[in-house]
Amino acid sequence: MKEDCAVTEETRTSVSPVPLLDLSRQYAALREEMNEALRRVNDSGQFVLGPEVKRLEAGIAEYSHTAFGVGCASGSDALLLALMAAGIGPGDEVIVPSFTFFATASCVPRLGATPVFADIDPVTFNIDPQHVEKLITSRTKAIIPVHLYGQMADMTALRAMTKEHSDPLRQKIVLVEDAAQAIGAELNGVRAGNWGDMTCLSFYPTKNLGGAGDGGMVITNDESWSRQVRLLRGHGMEPRYFHKVIGINSRLDSYQAAVLNVKLPHLDAWSEMRAANAKRYEVLFAEAGLTRILTLPQALPHHRHVWNQYVIRIPDGHRDAVRAALSERKIGSDIYYPMGLHEQECFAWLGYEPHDLPETWKASQEVLALPIYPELREEEQWTVVKAFKEYFAASAR
Ligand SMILES: *Cc1c(COP(=O)(O)O)cnc(C)c1O
Repeated sequence: MKEDCAVTEETRTSVSPVPLLDLSRQYAALREEMNEALRRVNDSGQFVLGPEVKRLEAGIAEYSHTAFGVGCASGSDALLLALMAAGIGPGDEVIVPSFTFFATASCVPRLGATPVFADIDPVTFNIDPQHVEKLITSRTKAIIPVHLYGQMADMTALRAMTKEHSDPLRQKIVLVEDAAQAIGAELNGVRAGNWGDMTCLSFYPTKNLGGAGDGGMVITNDESWSRQVRLLRGHGMEPRYFHKVIGINSRLDSYQAAVLNVKLPHLDAWSEMRAANAKRYEVLFAEAGLTRILTLPQALPHHRHVWNQYVIRIPDGHRDAVRAALSERKIGSDIYYPMGLHEQECFAWLGYEPHDLPETWKASQEVLALPIYPELREEEQWTVVKAFKEYFAASAR
């Protein structure tokens, strides 16, 4: 294909920008409903917890096919609260992937426990169960698999493993799902939220179900976990001014719940639009002859992938140059994540070397997230793919 070659300055500047995420398109479709919901909260005068939060807790639990939902201030707090409920503390080890957002691991040392970093499966970017098994010791008290980018970790293996290593007299390993990027994801027809003891969700604006600020939730099928998380999110207070345990202040505010209640009925349609966009990238990248160079993300069989991110691998040191070329054409992209947590300065005391987790290290050098949000237009995807085509045509010369 010859048209690869000449990118004139003119064609370059005539291309309109393709943002990595454009929330204004979603807001434009829901403006009236969202503003009405916020007016309702203003009129009620109830700004923290209250009926909107109750409704959201019930709605999210129903959506996730779980029995209970407890709203809190963020996905990060949901993880902290789950570990607090599980009684994690000094001397305990918690196994987490290194290739994830910081909050998956930071909750562990905040409770005086030690994070133990596991490597990932290079195909799914999710925690590698075989490596997890090698890391289990008599001190292991929890495992936090992350359903990265919207596809569930290998929960079948992890659940079997925690069962095998949990002995009612000796050791109970609590399994906490970090589903911040994966609300509604499924494995074998079973939704995220039903595999672990507790599951943590985030309503940060960039997530598939995003609020107008911070928010999070712990969902579970176990009444005692849900009661414990509920107690802990409100200073361990029950009844008012009587404190059973030392909790934190992590309440979900009514504005966020009101906005999320408006958005929840649209979530499945949005997830389907994300999946359709992923399919379209596959076709466009194949047509452009780029699938030999780039590794596209895969939705595994028996999985419902909800595509919070569309993350490709760009090998051989091209990643940063590609990103610069995209940015020159005003195409948004981002790197999730540029460094494994085991390499972070704040975890230097754990003594990891970069290559201790080779797949994590490799992924951090190669990954690039492209626009995938539901309202993304076909011609915008074509613009993205065309930029890749032009980049690799030029670099081959
Ligand atoms: C976003 C995210 C979190 C934290 O959620 P916040 O609501 O931003 O605190 C935790 N884990 C993962 C994997 C995330 O993507």
